Amino acid sequence: MRERVNIDTDILIIGGGTAGCLAAWEARQVGGPELRITILERANIRHSGSLAAGQNALNAYINQGTPEDWVAYVRYDLCGAPVREDILLSVGRELNQTVAMMEKEGLPIKKDVDGRYLARGKWNIEVNGRFLKPITAKMAEKANAQILNWVYVTELLKKDDRCVGAVGFGVRDGRFYVVRARAVLVASGGAAGIWRPRCSGDAHHRIWSVPFNTGASYAMMKRIGAEMTGFDTRMIPVRIKDTYAPAGTLAIGANAPMVNALGEVFMFEKEEYIRMGGHTAPTPVRVWACYQEIAAGRGPIFMDTTKGDPEKVAGLREQYLDMSPHTVLYWGAHDIDPAREPIEIEGDSPFLVGAHAACCGAWTIGTTRMTTVPGLFASGEALGQAPSRFISGSWTCGRIAGRNMVRWIEESGVGLAELDPEEITRLEEATFAPVERWSKQEFYTNGKPVMGILPKEMEEHMQNVMEDYCGGRVRYFSISEPYLNIARKRINRLRRDQLKYLVAADLYALQQAWDVINRLDCCQLAIEHISYRKETRFLGYVNRTDYPERNDAEYDCFICSVWNPDTDELTFKKYPYEQLVPGDRAKETV
Ligand SMILES: Cc1cc2nc3c(=O)[nH]c(=O)nc-3n(C[C@H](O)[C@H](O)[C@H](O)COP(=O)(O)OP(=O)(O)OC[C@H]3O[C@@H](n4cnc5c(N)ncnc54)[C@H](O)[C@@H]3O)c2cc1C
Repeated sequence: MRERVNIDTDILIIGGGTAGCLAAWEARQVGGPELRITILERANIRHSGSLAAGQNALNAYINQGTPEDWVAYVRYDLCGAPVREDILLSVGRELNQTVAMMEKEGLPIKKDVDGRYLARGKWNIEVNGRFLKPITAKMAEKANAQILNWVYVTELLKKDDRCVGAVGFGVRDGRFYVVRARAVLVASGGAAGIWRPRCSGDAHHRIWSVPFNTGASYAMMKRIGAEMTGFDTRMIPVRIKDTYAPAGTLAIGANAPMVNALGEVFMFEKEEYIRMGGHTAPTPVRVWACYQEIAAGRGPIFMDTTKGDPEKVAGLREQYLDMSPHTVLYWGAHDIDPAREPIEIEGDSPFLVGAHAACCGAWTIGTTRMTTVPGLFASGEALGQAPSRFISGSWTCGRIAGRNMVRWIEESGVGLAELDPEEITRLEEATFAPVERWSKQEFYTNGKPVMGILPKEMEEHMQNVMEDYCGGRVRYFSISEPYLNIARKRINRLRRDQLKYLVAADLYALQQAWDVINRLDCCQLAIEHISYRKETRFLGYVNRTDYPERNDAEYDCFICSVWNPDTDELTFKKYPYEQLVPGDRAKETV
C-alpha cells in the first residue's frame, strides 16, 4: 500500500520559482498570519527553475518613460502583436517597486558612479545574478509558507467546475500527495524540450532554457479545461553556439555588432532589414534575418566582440560567470577569447514561454490572474498574452496573483471541497501507472522492456516529430499545413495509442514519464494553435510558407482554445484585442 499525504491549505502554489515565491510573500502580507500557504516544488526552491543558474540582468525595468511606454515597447517587440495591455500595465505600474523591494531583501544591483542602477538601454538593469534564486526563495521562507520540496505535481483537482487542489508524487519518498486548497496558483514555468535539442546524448540537456520546466503549467491547465492561448507565438532564442548562453550580454552588454560571415553588419547595412526596423527590429524579425543570411550562404552569424567596447568585452567572462558559467569553461577549453575573435551565435530550438519573448499560457480574467476555471490562477510563464515580463515582471505578477487569490477567497467565501475518494484513487493509479507497468513487465531484451516504451524513447520520438513537421530548425522554422498534418497525426498517435505503454523503472524515471506526458500535451497546443492561425504574423518564430502574409481581418485578435476530454480535440474561440496604450503598434514608442 502506497503512503498517502493529505494536506489542507488556503492557498496552494505549484512551482516555487520566480513567480511562486513572490506570490507566497504577497499572500502573507495581504492575508495575515492565519492564512495557510503551501508550495509544492519538484526540486528544491533554493536552486530550482529559471533563476537556478543565475542571470545577469533584469530585462524589465522602467529606466525612463512610463509604464505606457514600456507596454508600447513590449507589443512592438512582438511585431505589434495583440498583447494583453491591461495585464502589462498592471505589471508596469509595480515593476520598479518590486525591484526596490528585492534590493532591500539583499539583491545586489549594479550602480553607476552617481549611484543609479546600471542601465542597459531603457528597459534593462544589471544585477549580480548568482544571488537571484536564493533571495527569491528566501521570500517564500520569510512568508512562512509550508514548502514541500521534491513533490512533482501531476494533476489539478476540479469539483463543480472549480479548481480545488492538486495531486502529485514525492520524487524522493514515492508518496502520493493530495492537497485540498481554496485557491490554486500554477507557477511551474514554461516548456522546454518539445523540439529536438541541438546537443545529443548526455549533453541533450544543454539547451537555453531550464530543462526541468517541461510544460506542466500548460498541460495541467489544459487538462482541467482552462482556456489556453498564445501557443502560436513559440519563442526561438538566438544564443551563443554550443553553450546557448544569452547573446544580449554581447550585444547590449558589450556593444558587439551582429555580423555575417562576410563581416557585414547586415541589420544596419541591408535595405530589406532596415525597412523592418534594422538592429532594433522586433525580436522575431532579428531571428528571421539571421536565418535569411544563413540560407543565402552568408553564415555563420557572429557577435563581433572584436569590434565591441574593449573594456566591456574584457569583463565578459565575469558577466557569464554570473549566469552561464559553462560558457567561460567552454571558451577556456576551446581557446576562444572574445577580444580576439567574434563569437558565433545561432537559433536554439523553439520554446513555449509566456513571460519571456512569447505569449503562451492561460487566458485570465481582467487583471486578476484568475483563469477561466474559478479558483485557478496563473503567473510567470504560465500566464498568457503578456510577454516580456521576464524576472522582475514574473516577481510582480506573482505578487499580484497572491494578492488576488486572497481577495478571491475572502469575497467568494469558498471553503475546502469534499473530494470523491474514487476519483482520488483513479488519479493515484494514473500518477504511478508507468512504474506499475514496469513492475508487471515479464520480458526484457538487454535490460529494456519488450512490452513498454521508456520515457527517453518516447521523448526522442516526440522531439523528432516536432523538429521535422512542426517547424524545427532543420526546416528553418518554416511550417505549412501538409507538415502540420503529419505532426498532428504522429503526436496524437503517441498521445492516444502509445502512452499506455510508457514504463518507468523508478521514481526518477517516473518524473521523466510525466515530463513526456506533459510535453505531449504541449505539442498538441502548439500544433493546433499554429494550424489555426492561417497567416504569418511572428516572422522568425512561426513562418507559414502556405500563408506568408498577415491577415488582420481574421487574426488581429486573441485566439484561445479549450480541450474537450471526450473528443481529445481543441475548440477555438477569439477575443477582440483592446488597445489601451494609444499609438502605432508598429512603432517602439507611443
Ligand atoms: C535560460 C534563461 C535565461 C533568462 N535570462 C533572463 C535575463 O537575463 N533577465 C530576465 O529578466 N529574464 C530572463 N529570463 C526569463 C525569466 O527568468 C523567466 O521569465 C522567469 O524567471 C519565469 O518565472 P516562473 O516563475 O514562471 O518560472 P521558474 O522561475 O522557472 O519557476 C518554475 C518552478 O516550477 C517548478 N516546477 C516545474 N514543474 C513542476 C511540477 N510539475 N511540479 C512542481 N513544481 C514544478 C520548477 O522546478 C521551478 O522551480 C531567462 C529565462 C531563462 C530560461
